[in-house]
Amino acid sequence: MCQKGRAWIELNKENLMDNIRQFRLLLPPGCALMPAVKANAYGHGAALVAGALQEQGVRNFCVASAAEGIELRRAGILGEILVLGYTHPSQFTDLIHHDLTQTVVDADYAARMQEDGRRFVVHIGIDTGMHRLGERWDNIEAIQQMFRLPNLRVTGVYSHLCVSDGTSHWERAYTLEQIRHFEAVVEELHRRGISGFKCHLQGSYGILNYSQLCFDYARAGIALYGILSGRDDKVNASMELRPVLSLKARVGTVRMLYQGEGAGYGLAYRAGENRRIGALSIGYADGIPRSMSNCGYVLCHGRKAPVIGRICMDQMLVDFTGVPEAKAGDEAVLIGKSGDLEIRAEDLASWAGTISNEILSRLGSRLERMME
Ligand SMILES: *Cc1c(COP(=O)(O)O)cnc(C)c1O
Repeated sequence: MCQKGRAWIELNKENLMDNIRQFRLLLPPGCALMPAVKANAYGHGAALVAGALQEQGVRNFCVASAAEGIELRRAGILGEILVLGYTHPSQFTDLIHHDLTQTVVDADYAARMQEDGRRFVVHIGIDTGMHRLGERWDNIEAIQQMFRLPNLRVTGVYSHLCVSDGTSHWERAYTLEQIRHFEAVVEELHRRGISGFKCHLQGSYGILNYSQLCFDYARAGIALYGILSGRDDKVNASMELRPVLSLKARVGTVRMLYQGEGAGYGLAYRAGENRRIGALSIGYADGIPRSMSNCGYVLCHGRKAPVIGRICMDQMLVDFTGVPEAKAGDEAVLIGKSGDLEIRAEDLASWAGTISNEILSRLGSRLERMME
């Protein structure tokens, strides 16, 4: 169903492959990629992305929920799929049926899994300072106890960094402390004769800013898709990551808006002089943030067309006065390249006052997705 009918996402496979190659060069030998393909692979399309990663020898994936894990299995993804989030006991059957690895979110959860009676493959989450999921790093007795539960097969131990994107003094100090806490847990387990489990700690910014660390896996998300969270983010590793995703929509109509006339809901845009405007077949139900109303631009025929008026559910208006060749049926680019110009997901995020992760992960199910 590659029709490019209304609004769609094009995935650049070569760029994804190149990003994988660069990450593998950056990571120490012995550290494997465990790509984060949660939230439909950050909006890119989980089956398409995970399939391409699997072709490149990726054998470990992480997702947010059991349902996301099942979707990958149905798409033919083998290897280990780690569920990073909480799974309610009513869904434990799914974990077993689809061979998913579950995160142990704390000691109570481990006890609950043990009580269930069936056998689960798990990674233990360790709270080293984010205070979201995981057993506290200093509660080593509780952590060791999880290894003694006969119904849990612990194949991994991991934690998550919460300020690794920051380069200020306190953020670096806090991250180094989280790293020390995590290493202390691993060392103490080894000292107590517990071994044979894998360790992982870093997401994208943990990899890009602390690339000297050497764990078994690296959970790359946003950067694997070739972008950073914010336009002005700075990272230590010098990599030339290439964006994988382009977002495009059809121009539906082109018409004149005469001086003094308003356009769209609330007539939130007013023409100060005669303008040529267009309606694009994409809106907030597709993931274009409504906060981009009257803000930012799209590309068409290699030129900028400013966004005007309020973003609608299924459509949005742009000013084509500066794009005389624009006509119904043309392609407009919301993320990606047109001629010499490029809009990055980070740009959209900055116009909408958020991070690129949110923009991408909210791209809607109505969009066609294709990899070329
Ligand atoms: C989402 C997530 C990741 C990936 O994060 P990025 O910053 O996108 O690389 C890694 N680990 C955990 C626990 C996550 O929730």
